[in-house]
Amino acid sequence: RIQRTYNFNAGPSALPLEVLEKAQKELVDFRGNGMSVMELSHRSATFEEVHNEAISRLKNLFSIPDNYEILFLQGGASLQFSMIPMNFLQSGQQAAYIMTGSWSEKAIKEAKLFGEPYEVASTKDENYNRIPSLSELNFHDNDAYVHLTSNNTIYGTQWQEFPDTGDVPLIADMSSDIMSKPVDVSKFGIIYAGAQKNLGPSGVTVVIIRKDLIEKGNQQVPTMLKYSTHSKSNSLYNTPPTFGIYMLGEVLRWVEENGGLEAIEKKNTEKAKLIYDVIDESNGFYKGHAEKDSRSLMNITFNLQSEELEKKFLAEAKARGFVGLNGHRSVGGCRASTYNAVPYEACKALADLMKEFQQANQ
Ligand code: PMP
Repeated sequence: RIQRTYNFNAGPSALPLEVLEKAQKELVDFRGNGMSVMELSHRSATFEEVHNEAISRLKNLFSIPDNYEILFLQGGASLQFSMIPMNFLQSGQQAAYIMTGSWSEKAIKEAKLFGEPYEVASTKDENYNRIPSLSELNFHDNDAYVHLTSNNTIYGTQWQEFPDTGDVPLIADMSSDIMSKPVDVSKFGIIYAGAQKNLGPSGVTVVIIRKDLIEKGNQQVPTMLKYSTHSKSNSLYNTPPTFGIYMLGEVLRWVEENGGLEAIEKKNTEKAKLIYDVIDESNGFYKGHAEKDSRSLMNITFNLQSEELEKKFLAEAKARGFVGLNGHRSVGGCRASTYNAVPYEACKALADLMKEFQQANQ
């Protein structure tokens, strides 16, 4: 079997080997069509089957209620930062943004172009090392919606319990933790995520949107930026990223075959624990960035005692074949992204390396 690199990239990131091998096998002749999935017409019955299969797997696995629509869009999660206020925030209207990191900052920046978003809570002063507690969230009356980032890829924090926003739609950017555990979708008006962490290759953005919101959106926005356009055409208004949607379906099939979301969550918890335990038992040699009760199961962020030691650790990890352990360029330090497809053995190898490095360098 081919030797795979210990890939801790933050996104695009590791994909399941089984899925890659299946895609490789099907590449030149997809389901007896004598062509690859990339060469099929997006209007063909064969592609329609691929497309609808991906939708139904997502619906079943994530227990999405019938009053929600699943859309496959382009433009990344970043375009959702704009599409959400463009469709749902009118001039003069307020929307609450819970600020937990750089991606929340990018989201509110777009909303300011359309209405009056406000920061309902922010942990910026603490270098975004925690998620605000529910008691810190004092929403105004008449918010158009509430927006949060469920997992903060850069800082390594993750919501453990979501706020109840009553009749006000709760909108979540779940780019870096979607499908890592079960979620009660009915609490949300919209969930969106770029595919390139837990779902597949980059190029597809999944949007799960409550049906009643679709028609409530502002109709005075360009056709491609209206949710109703994509909803009416089952995300086939224009040419979709066909190969990405195929891969998404195959990744979801892999999640199913691996026991579904409860099993994936259990595995993710075990993987993260291997590394957090090394941090916690290191007597301060490694220091976790996130407060314990805000820790992410997907992005584990930590520092060493000096930048020099961090450099040495990262160089040693690199020499041993570990990839993607540098912290985001905006915060430095180290980060291990342990998404669904990162194997337990890779996390075990990293935990062992960290222990060994400590012994040799303290
Ligand atoms: N939100 C979060 C939480 C992310 O991690 C990222 C990408 N790393 C984005 C949004 C931006 O996504 P995209 O590159 O798909 O626009």
